[in-house]
Amino acid sequence: MSQIRAKIEKVLDNAERLNEVLNAFLTIDREYALKRADELENSPIHGKLHGVPIAVKDNICTSWTRTTCASRILANYRPQYNATVVEKLLAEGAVIIGKTNMDEFAMGSSNENSAFGIVRNPWDLERVPGGSSGGSAAAVAAGIVDVALGSDTGGSIRQPASFCGVFGIKPTYGRVSRYGLVAFGSSLDQIGVFGRTTRNVAEVLEVISGRDERDATSADVPVPEYTKQLDDEIKGVKIGFPRSLFGEGLDAEVKSTIEQAIENFASIGAEIVEIDLPLLKYGIAVYYIIATAEASSNLARYDGVRYGFRAEDVHELRQMYYKTREEGFGAEVKRRIMLGTYVLSSGYYDAYYAKAQKVRTLLRSDFQAAFQKCDVIITPTSPTVAFRIGEKTDDPLAMYLSDVYTVTANLVSIPGISVPCGLSKEGLPIGMQILGNYWSESLLLRLSNAYELFFPIQAKPKVWVEKE
Ligand code: GLN
Repeated sequence: MSQIRAKIEKVLDNAERLNEVLNAFLTIDREYALKRADELENSPIHGKLHGVPIAVKDNICTSWTRTTCASRILANYRPQYNATVVEKLLAEGAVIIGKTNMDEFAMGSSNENSAFGIVRNPWDLERVPGGSSGGSAAAVAAGIVDVALGSDTGGSIRQPASFCGVFGIKPTYGRVSRYGLVAFGSSLDQIGVFGRTTRNVAEVLEVISGRDERDATSADVPVPEYTKQLDDEIKGVKIGFPRSLFGEGLDAEVKSTIEQAIENFASIGAEIVEIDLPLLKYGIAVYYIIATAEASSNLARYDGVRYGFRAEDVHELRQMYYKTREEGFGAEVKRRIMLGTYVLSSGYYDAYYAKAQKVRTLLRSDFQAAFQKCDVIITPTSPTVAFRIGEKTDDPLAMYLSDVYTVTANLVSIPGISVPCGLSKEGLPIGMQILGNYWSESLLLRLSNAYELFFPIQAKPKVWVEKE
Protein backbone atom coordinates (compact mmCIF):
# COMPACT_ATOMS: atom_id res chain seq x y z
CA MET A 1 0.00 0.00 0.00
CA SER A 2 1.18 3.49 -0.75
CA GLN A 3 2.64 5.52 2.08
CA ILE A 4 0.28 8.43 1.90
CA ARG A 5 -2.73 6.14 1.75
CA ALA A 6 -1.52 4.20 4.79
CA LYS A 7 -1.02 7.39 6.74
CA ILE A 8 -4.40 8.84 5.79
CA GLU A 9 -6.15 5.58 6.57
CA LYS A 10 -4.73 5.68 10.07
CA VAL A 11 -5.81 9.28 10.53
CA LEU A 12 -9.33 8.41 9.35
CA ASP A 13 -9.47 5.42 11.71
CA ASN A 14 -8.49 7.66 14.63
CA ALA A 15 -10.94 10.35 13.60
CA GLU A 16 -13.83 7.90 13.35
CA ARG A 17 -12.99 6.14 16.60
CA LEU A 18 -12.45 9.28 18.68
CA ASN A 19 -15.43 11.00 17.13
CA GLU A 20 -17.68 8.70 19.08
CA VAL A 21 -16.39 10.35 22.23
CA LEU A 22 -15.58 13.87 21.07
CA ASN A 23 -18.06 14.60 18.26
CA ALA A 24 -15.38 16.86 16.78
CA PHE A 25 -16.29 16.09 13.15
CA LEU A 26 -19.60 16.58 11.40
CA THR A 27 -18.33 14.87 8.27
CA ILE A 28 -15.44 12.46 7.85
CA ASP A 29 -15.11 11.80 4.15
CA ARG A 30 -13.15 8.55 3.96
CA GLU A 31 -13.78 7.82 0.32
CA TYR A 32 -12.74 11.27 -0.81
CA ALA A 33 -9.65 11.38 1.43
CA LEU A 34 -8.36 7.99 0.28
CA LYS A 35 -8.89 8.83 -3.37
CA ARG A 36 -7.02 12.05 -2.81
CA ALA A 37 -4.19 10.14 -1.08
CA ASP A 38 -3.83 7.87 -4.12
CA GLU A 39 -3.75 10.82 -6.49
CA LEU A 40 -1.03 12.47 -4.46
CA GLU A 41 1.03 9.29 -4.32
CA ASN A 42 1.21 9.27 -8.10
CA SER A 43 1.66 12.98 -8.51
CA PRO A 44 5.03 14.33 -9.63
CA ILE A 45 4.29 17.62 -7.87
CA HIS A 46 5.27 17.84 -4.23
CA GLY A 47 3.69 20.86 -2.59
CA LYS A 48 4.54 22.32 0.80
CA LEU A 49 1.79 20.21 2.43
CA HIS A 50 2.17 17.05 0.38
CA GLY A 51 0.07 14.35 2.04
CA VAL A 52 -0.60 16.39 5.18
CA PRO A 53 -4.00 15.58 6.73
CA ILE A 54 -6.02 18.66 7.65
CA ALA A 55 -9.43 19.20 9.24
CA VAL A 56 -11.55 22.15 8.11
CA LYS A 57 -14.27 23.95 10.06
CA ASP A 58 -17.69 23.34 8.60
CA ASN A 59 -18.33 26.97 7.66
CA ILE A 60 -15.62 26.83 4.98
CA CYS A 61 -16.95 25.71 1.61
CA THR A 62 -15.89 22.41 0.08
CA SER A 63 -17.40 21.40 -3.23
CA TRP A 64 -17.14 17.63 -2.72
CA THR A 65 -18.88 17.40 0.60
CA ARG A 66 -21.55 19.20 2.58
CA THR A 67 -20.89 22.47 4.45
CA THR A 68 -23.45 22.76 7.23
CA CYS A 69 -22.29 25.56 9.58
CA ALA A 70 -23.67 23.13 12.20
CA SER A 71 -27.13 24.40 11.32
CA ARG A 72 -30.28 22.55 10.36
CA ILE A 73 -30.84 25.17 7.71
CA LEU A 74 -27.72 24.01 5.82
CA ALA A 75 -27.78 20.37 6.92
CA ASN A 76 -27.64 19.08 3.35
CA TYR A 77 -26.03 22.05 1.64
CA ARG A 78 -23.33 21.16 -0.80
CA PRO A 79 -21.48 24.24 -2.13
CA GLN A 80 -20.82 24.74 -5.83
CA TYR A 81 -17.25 25.79 -5.20
CA ASN A 82 -14.27 25.58 -2.86
CA ALA A 83 -13.25 28.39 -0.55
CA THR A 84 -9.99 30.02 -1.64
CA VAL A 85 -8.22 28.64 1.43
CA VAL A 86 -9.33 25.14 0.46
CA GLU A 87 -8.05 25.63 -3.10
CA LYS A 88 -4.73 26.81 -1.69
CA LEU A 89 -4.41 23.84 0.65
CA LEU A 90 -5.21 21.43 -2.16
CA ALA A 91 -2.73 23.10 -4.49
CA GLU A 92 0.01 22.39 -1.94
CA GLY A 93 -0.96 18.74 -1.57
CA ALA A 94 -2.99 18.73 1.66
CA VAL A 95 -5.57 16.01 2.31
CA ILE A 96 -8.76 17.36 3.85
CA ILE A 97 -10.09 14.49 5.92
CA GLY A 98 -13.30 16.07 7.15
CA LYS A 99 -15.33 19.00 8.34
CA THR A 100 -15.37 19.95 11.99
CA ASN A 101 -18.19 20.67 14.39
CA MET A 102 -18.79 24.24 15.58
CA ASP A 103 -21.34 26.54 17.13
CA GLU A 104 -24.15 27.17 14.66
CA PHE A 105 -22.98 29.84 12.19
CA ALA A 106 -19.93 30.34 14.45
CA MET A 107 -22.02 31.99 17.14
CA GLY A 108 -20.85 30.87 20.53
CA SER A 109 -17.97 30.28 22.90
CA SER A 110 -18.54 26.67 23.92
CA ASN A 111 -19.65 24.66 20.89
CA GLU A 112 -22.92 23.99 22.72
CA ASN A 113 -24.87 25.80 20.00
CA SER A 114 -24.27 23.17 17.31
CA ALA A 115 -27.46 21.68 15.86
CA PHE A 116 -25.56 18.38 15.69
CA GLY A 117 -24.48 17.94 19.28
CA ILE A 118 -21.86 19.31 21.61
CA VAL A 119 -18.12 18.69 21.27
CA ARG A 120 -16.25 17.39 24.30
CA ASN A 121 -12.91 18.68 25.50
CA PRO A 122 -10.23 15.95 25.17
CA TRP A 123 -8.67 17.08 28.49
CA ASP A 124 -11.91 16.55 30.42
CA LEU A 125 -14.96 15.11 28.71
CA GLU A 126 -17.32 16.94 31.05
CA ARG A 127 -16.01 20.28 29.84
CA VAL A 128 -16.54 22.34 26.71
CA PRO A 129 -13.74 22.65 24.12
CA GLY A 130 -14.51 26.36 23.66
CA GLY A 131 -16.07 27.83 20.57
CA SER A 132 -17.02 28.44 18.03
CA SER A 133 -14.30 26.34 16.36
CA GLY A 134 -14.51 23.68 19.07
CA GLY A 135 -14.34 20.72 16.70
CA SER A 136 -11.11 21.90 15.06
CA ALA A 137 -9.50 22.59 18.44
CA ALA A 138 -10.53 19.19 19.85
CA ALA A 139 -9.35 17.34 16.72
CA VAL A 140 -5.89 18.89 17.02
CA ALA A 141 -5.73 18.53 20.80
CA ALA A 142 -6.56 14.82 20.61
CA GLY A 143 -3.80 14.30 18.05
CA ILE A 144 -6.11 13.31 15.19
CA VAL A 145 -4.56 15.95 12.94
CA ASP A 146 -1.62 18.30 13.47
CA VAL A 147 -3.44 21.21 11.90
CA ALA A 148 -6.98 22.42 11.34
CA LEU A 149 -8.64 25.52 9.95
CA GLY A 150 -11.04 27.59 11.99
CA SER A 151 -12.65 31.00 11.75
CA ASP A 152 -12.46 33.80 14.27
CA THR A 153 -15.01 36.61 14.47
CA GLY A 154 -14.52 37.45 18.14
CA GLY A 155 -12.20 34.76 19.46
CA SER A 156 -13.39 31.53 17.92
CA ILE A 157 -9.89 30.29 17.17
CA ARG A 158 -7.97 31.69 20.12
CA GLN A 159 -10.41 30.74 22.87
CA PRO A 160 -10.90 27.07 21.88
CA ALA A 161 -7.13 26.83 21.29
CA SER A 162 -6.67 28.01 24.87
CA PHE A 163 -9.28 25.61 26.29
CA CYS A 164 -7.79 22.67 24.40
CA GLY A 165 -4.08 23.40 24.95
CA VAL A 166 -3.10 23.99 21.31
CA PHE A 167 -1.81 26.92 19.28
CA GLY A 168 -4.29 29.06 17.34
CA ILE A 169 -3.82 32.20 15.28
CA LYS A 170 -6.28 34.79 14.04
CA PRO A 171 -4.50 36.77 11.33
CA THR A 172 -4.81 40.47 10.52
CA TYR A 173 -8.13 41.27 8.81
CA GLY A 174 -7.43 40.93 5.09
CA ARG A 175 -4.47 38.56 5.49
CA VAL A 176 -6.49 35.50 4.42
CA SER A 177 -9.24 35.45 1.81
CA ARG A 178 -12.77 35.05 3.13
CA TYR A 179 -14.06 33.82 -0.22
CA GLY A 180 -16.04 30.69 0.58
CA LEU A 181 -16.19 31.34 4.32
CA VAL A 182 -19.87 31.49 5.26
CA ALA A 183 -20.32 35.06 6.48
CA PHE A 184 -21.16 35.85 10.12
CA GLY A 185 -19.79 39.36 10.80
CA SER A 186 -18.08 40.30 7.57
CA SER A 187 -15.98 43.14 8.99
CA LEU A 188 -14.72 40.84 11.78
CA ASP A 189 -14.42 37.35 10.25
CA GLN A 190 -11.00 35.87 9.49
CA ILE A 191 -9.97 32.32 8.75
CA GLY A 192 -7.01 31.09 10.78
CA VAL A 193 -5.11 28.02 11.87
CA PHE A 194 -4.90 25.62 14.83
CA GLY A 195 -1.71 23.62 15.31
CA ARG A 196 -0.09 21.14 17.67
CA THR A 197 3.04 23.25 17.33
CA THR A 198 3.81 26.79 16.27
CA ARG A 199 5.58 25.40 13.22
CA ASN A 200 2.41 23.59 12.14
CA VAL A 201 0.54 26.88 12.34
CA ALA A 202 3.22 28.80 10.43
CA GLU A 203 3.37 26.23 7.63
CA VAL A 204 -0.34 26.41 6.94
CA LEU A 205 -0.73 30.16 7.45
CA GLU A 206 1.97 30.72 4.85
CA VAL A 207 -0.04 28.69 2.35
CA ILE A 208 -3.48 30.22 2.91
CA SER A 209 -2.45 33.90 3.16
CA GLY A 210 -2.43 36.51 0.43
CA ARG A 211 -4.49 38.70 -1.84
CA ASP A 212 -7.44 37.08 -3.59
CA GLU A 213 -9.25 38.75 -6.48
CA ARG A 214 -12.47 37.15 -5.25
CA ASP A 215 -12.37 38.87 -1.85
CA ALA A 216 -12.15 42.65 -2.17
CA THR A 217 -11.22 42.93 1.52
CA SER A 218 -8.18 40.71 1.16
CA ALA A 219 -5.05 42.82 1.23
CA ASP A 220 -2.32 43.15 -1.31
CA VAL A 221 0.46 42.83 1.25
CA PRO A 222 3.35 40.44 0.59
CA VAL A 223 3.22 37.18 2.56
CA PRO A 224 6.43 36.52 4.50
CA GLU A 225 7.86 33.03 4.74
CA TYR A 226 6.70 32.54 8.30
CA THR A 227 8.46 29.20 8.69
CA LYS A 228 11.84 30.72 7.79
CA GLN A 229 11.51 33.48 10.39
CA LEU A 230 10.39 31.29 13.28
CA ASP A 231 13.78 30.95 14.90
CA ASP A 232 14.79 34.59 14.62
CA GLU A 233 15.91 36.38 17.75
CA ILE A 234 13.30 37.66 20.20
CA LYS A 235 15.79 39.62 22.34
CA GLY A 236 14.66 43.19 22.86
CA VAL A 237 11.08 42.60 21.71
CA LYS A 238 8.92 44.92 23.78
CA ILE A 239 6.01 43.15 25.44
CA GLY A 240 3.16 45.33 26.66
CA PHE A 241 1.65 44.32 29.99
CA PRO A 242 -1.82 45.85 30.43
CA ARG A 243 -1.97 45.55 34.21
CA SER A 244 -5.49 46.90 34.53
CA LEU A 245 -6.85 43.96 32.52
CA PHE A 246 -5.56 41.52 35.11
CA GLY A 247 -8.22 42.40 37.64
CA GLU A 248 -11.87 41.72 38.21
CA GLY A 249 -13.39 38.61 36.69
CA LEU A 250 -10.06 36.96 36.00
CA ASP A 251 -9.55 33.55 37.58
CA ALA A 252 -6.67 33.64 40.08
CA GLU A 253 -4.86 30.65 38.62
CA VAL A 254 -5.13 31.99 35.06
CA LYS A 255 -3.84 35.34 36.30
CA SER A 256 -0.76 33.94 38.01
CA THR A 257 -0.01 31.65 35.06
CA ILE A 258 -0.07 34.51 32.55
CA GLU A 259 1.99 36.75 34.82
CA GLN A 260 4.53 33.95 35.11
CA ALA A 261 4.52 33.57 31.32
CA ILE A 262 5.33 37.26 30.93
CA GLU A 263 8.22 36.84 33.38
CA ASN A 264 9.35 33.82 31.43
CA PHE A 265 9.51 35.96 28.31
CA ALA A 266 11.59 38.50 30.21
CA SER A 267 13.97 35.71 31.23
CA ILE A 268 14.68 34.92 27.57
CA GLY A 269 15.41 38.50 26.59
CA ALA A 270 12.10 40.27 26.02
CA GLU A 271 11.57 43.68 27.56
CA ILE A 272 8.36 44.22 29.57
CA VAL A 273 6.63 47.59 29.50
CA GLU A 274 3.43 48.54 31.26
CA ILE A 275 0.70 49.83 29.00
CA ASP A 276 -2.87 50.90 29.36
CA LEU A 277 -5.87 50.11 27.17
CA PRO A 278 -8.50 52.26 28.85
CA LEU A 279 -11.26 51.56 26.32
CA LEU A 280 -10.93 47.79 26.13
CA LYS A 281 -13.67 47.42 28.69
CA TYR A 282 -16.15 48.57 26.03
CA GLY A 283 -15.07 45.80 23.66
CA ILE A 284 -17.82 43.32 24.57
CA ALA A 285 -20.60 45.89 24.23
CA VAL A 286 -19.32 47.14 20.89
CA TYR A 287 -18.69 43.64 19.58
CA TYR A 288 -22.14 42.31 20.43
CA ILE A 289 -23.73 45.25 18.63
CA ILE A 290 -21.62 45.12 15.48
CA ALA A 291 -21.42 41.33 15.22
CA THR A 292 -25.17 40.86 15.65
CA ALA A 293 -25.96 43.72 13.24
CA GLU A 294 -23.80 42.16 10.54
CA ALA A 295 -25.13 38.69 11.31
CA SER A 296 -28.75 39.77 10.99
CA SER A 297 -27.99 41.12 7.54
CA ASN A 298 -25.81 38.18 6.42
CA LEU A 299 -28.30 35.57 7.56
CA ALA A 300 -31.18 37.14 5.65
CA ARG A 301 -30.16 34.97 2.70
CA TYR A 302 -31.39 31.78 4.37
CA ASP A 303 -34.96 32.05 3.22
CA GLY A 304 -35.79 28.54 2.12
CA VAL A 305 -35.37 29.52 -1.53
CA ARG A 306 -31.70 30.01 -2.17
CA TYR A 307 -30.04 27.52 0.14
CA GLY A 308 -30.60 24.27 1.91
CA PHE A 309 -33.58 23.53 4.06
CA ARG A 310 -37.19 24.54 3.30
CA ALA A 311 -40.05 23.91 5.71
CA GLU A 312 -42.74 21.55 4.55
CA ASP A 313 -46.46 21.97 4.61
CA VAL A 314 -46.55 25.64 3.74
CA HIS A 315 -49.14 27.36 1.60
CA GLU A 316 -47.86 30.82 0.90
CA LEU A 317 -44.54 32.64 0.62
CA ARG A 318 -44.44 34.57 3.86
CA GLN A 319 -45.41 31.51 5.85
CA MET A 320 -42.66 29.58 4.05
CA TYR A 321 -40.06 32.16 5.16
CA TYR A 322 -41.28 32.12 8.74
CA LYS A 323 -41.47 28.40 9.07
CA THR A 324 -38.16 27.73 7.34
CA ARG A 325 -36.31 30.15 9.60
CA GLU A 326 -38.23 29.07 12.70
CA GLU A 327 -37.34 25.42 12.13
CA GLY A 328 -33.95 25.92 10.53
CA PHE A 329 -32.20 28.20 13.04
CA GLY A 330 -31.32 27.42 16.65
CA ALA A 331 -32.00 29.63 19.66
CA GLU A 332 -28.70 31.52 19.72
CA VAL A 333 -28.85 32.36 16.02
CA LYS A 334 -32.38 33.68 16.45
CA ARG A 335 -31.32 35.74 19.46
CA ARG A 336 -28.55 37.33 17.41
CA ILE A 337 -30.78 38.04 14.43
CA MET A 338 -33.23 39.78 16.75
CA LEU A 339 -30.54 41.77 18.55
CA GLY A 340 -28.95 42.77 15.25
CA THR A 341 -32.23 43.78 13.69
CA TYR A 342 -32.99 45.85 16.76
CA VAL A 343 -29.71 47.78 16.80
CA LEU A 344 -30.10 48.52 13.08
CA SER A 345 -33.74 49.58 13.28
CA SER A 346 -34.36 53.22 12.42
CA GLY A 347 -35.28 54.27 15.96
CA TYR A 348 -32.18 52.75 17.55
CA TYR A 349 -29.56 52.92 14.82
CA ASP A 350 -27.88 56.07 16.13
CA ALA A 351 -28.06 55.04 19.76
CA TYR A 352 -26.52 51.61 19.22
CA TYR A 353 -25.02 50.80 15.85
CA ALA A 354 -23.65 54.24 14.96
CA LYS A 355 -22.34 54.70 18.51
CA ALA A 356 -20.66 51.31 18.45
CA GLN A 357 -18.90 52.20 15.19
CA LYS A 358 -17.56 55.37 16.81
CA VAL A 359 -16.25 53.48 19.81
CA ARG A 360 -14.72 50.97 17.42
CA THR A 361 -12.70 53.80 15.90
CA LEU A 362 -11.61 54.96 19.36
CA LEU A 363 -10.53 51.41 20.18
CA ARG A 364 -8.29 51.44 17.12
CA SER A 365 -6.59 54.61 18.42
CA ASP A 366 -6.24 53.03 21.85
CA PHE A 367 -4.29 50.15 20.36
CA GLN A 368 -2.21 52.37 18.08
CA ALA A 369 -1.23 54.43 21.12
CA ALA A 370 -0.23 51.24 22.94
CA PHE A 371 1.82 50.04 19.97
CA GLN A 372 3.89 53.23 20.20
CA LYS A 373 5.26 51.79 23.43
CA CYS A 374 5.44 48.07 22.72
CA ASP A 375 5.63 45.55 19.88
CA VAL A 376 3.07 43.09 21.24
CA ILE A 377 0.56 42.89 24.08
CA ILE A 378 0.02 39.86 26.31
CA THR A 379 -3.28 39.05 28.00
CA PRO A 380 -5.00 35.86 29.06
CA THR A 381 -6.91 34.36 26.12
CA SER A 382 -9.89 33.64 28.34
CA PRO A 383 -10.64 34.68 31.93
CA THR A 384 -11.10 31.02 32.95
CA VAL A 385 -10.08 27.53 31.96
CA ALA A 386 -12.58 25.40 30.02
CA PHE A 387 -15.91 25.51 31.84
CA ARG A 388 -18.30 22.64 32.42
CA ILE A 389 -20.81 21.57 29.82
CA GLY A 390 -24.10 23.31 30.59
CA GLU A 391 -22.52 25.76 33.04
CA LYS A 392 -23.33 28.88 31.02
CA THR A 393 -26.03 27.77 28.60
CA ASP A 394 -28.82 29.43 30.55
CA ASP A 395 -27.00 32.70 30.86
CA PRO A 396 -26.10 34.15 27.44
CA LEU A 397 -24.63 37.27 29.02
CA ALA A 398 -22.15 35.26 31.11
CA MET A 399 -21.22 33.42 27.92
CA TYR A 400 -20.67 36.71 26.08
CA LEU A 401 -18.53 38.08 28.90
CA SER A 402 -16.10 35.20 28.57
CA ASP A 403 -15.00 36.76 25.25
CA VAL A 404 -13.66 39.88 26.96
CA TYR A 405 -10.02 39.40 25.94
CA THR A 406 -10.54 38.24 22.38
CA VAL A 407 -13.23 40.37 20.70
CA THR A 408 -11.22 43.57 20.52
CA ALA A 409 -8.61 42.17 18.13
CA ASN A 410 -11.40 41.59 15.60
CA LEU A 411 -12.88 45.03 16.20
CA VAL A 412 -9.52 46.68 15.50
CA SER A 413 -8.49 44.14 12.80
CA ILE A 414 -5.18 43.14 14.42
CA PRO A 415 -3.75 39.61 14.63
CA GLY A 416 -3.61 37.49 17.77
CA ILE A 417 -2.32 34.07 18.75
CA SER A 418 -3.14 31.85 21.70
CA VAL A 419 -0.15 30.01 23.13
CA PRO A 420 -0.45 27.19 25.71
CA CYS A 421 1.45 28.34 28.78
CA GLY A 422 0.42 26.15 31.69
CA LEU A 423 -2.03 23.81 33.32
CA SER A 424 -4.39 24.51 36.17
CA LYS A 425 -4.28 22.41 39.35
CA GLU A 426 -7.01 20.29 37.85
CA GLY A 427 -4.85 19.71 34.81
CA LEU A 428 -6.70 21.96 32.38
CA PRO A 429 -4.82 24.03 29.79
CA ILE A 430 -4.30 27.77 30.15
CA GLY A 431 -3.50 29.92 27.13
CA MET A 432 -1.96 33.34 26.81
CA GLN A 433 -2.97 35.67 24.04
CA ILE A 434 -0.30 37.65 22.19
CA LEU A 435 -1.67 40.54 20.16
CA GLY A 436 0.39 42.46 17.60
CA ASN A 437 -0.03 45.35 15.23
CA TYR A 438 -1.27 44.90 11.66
CA TRP A 439 0.69 42.32 9.65
CA SER A 440 2.81 41.23 12.64
CA GLU A 441 1.98 37.52 12.28
CA SER A 442 5.64 36.71 11.82
CA LEU A 443 6.56 38.30 15.14
CA LEU A 444 3.66 36.58 16.93
CA LEU A 445 4.73 33.21 15.56
CA ARG A 446 8.35 33.86 16.53
CA LEU A 447 7.36 34.64 20.12
CA SER A 448 5.07 31.63 20.24
CA ASN A 449 7.83 29.40 18.90
CA ALA A 450 10.36 30.72 21.42
CA TYR A 451 7.93 30.13 24.27
CA GLU A 452 7.18 26.64 23.03
CA LEU A 453 10.87 25.76 22.87
CA PHE A 454 11.87 27.21 26.24
CA PHE A 455 8.75 26.45 28.27
CA PRO A 456 7.13 23.39 26.72
CA ILE A 457 4.06 21.73 28.17
CA GLN A 458 4.61 18.01 28.25
CA ALA A 459 1.21 16.78 29.42
CA LYS A 460 -1.20 15.11 27.01
CA PRO A 461 -4.99 15.22 27.18
CA LYS A 462 -6.95 12.22 28.46
CA VAL A 463 -8.33 11.48 25.04
CA TRP A 464 -5.37 11.03 22.77
CA VAL A 465 -4.67 8.91 19.68
CA GLU A 466 -2.53 5.88 20.46
CA LYS A 467 1.21 6.00 20.17
CA GLU A 468 2.52 5.68 16.64
N1 GLN B 1 -17.74 33.87 21.00
C1 GLN B 1 -17.94 34.94 20.08
C2 GLN B 1 -19.38 34.96 19.62
O1 GLN B 1 -20.12 34.20 20.12
C3 GLN B 1 -16.99 34.80 18.92
C4 GLN B 1 -17.46 33.87 17.88
C5 GLN B 1 -16.51 33.77 16.75
O2 GLN B 1 -15.37 34.23 16.82
N2 GLN B 1 -16.99 33.20 15.65
O3 GLN B 1 -19.75 35.72 18.78
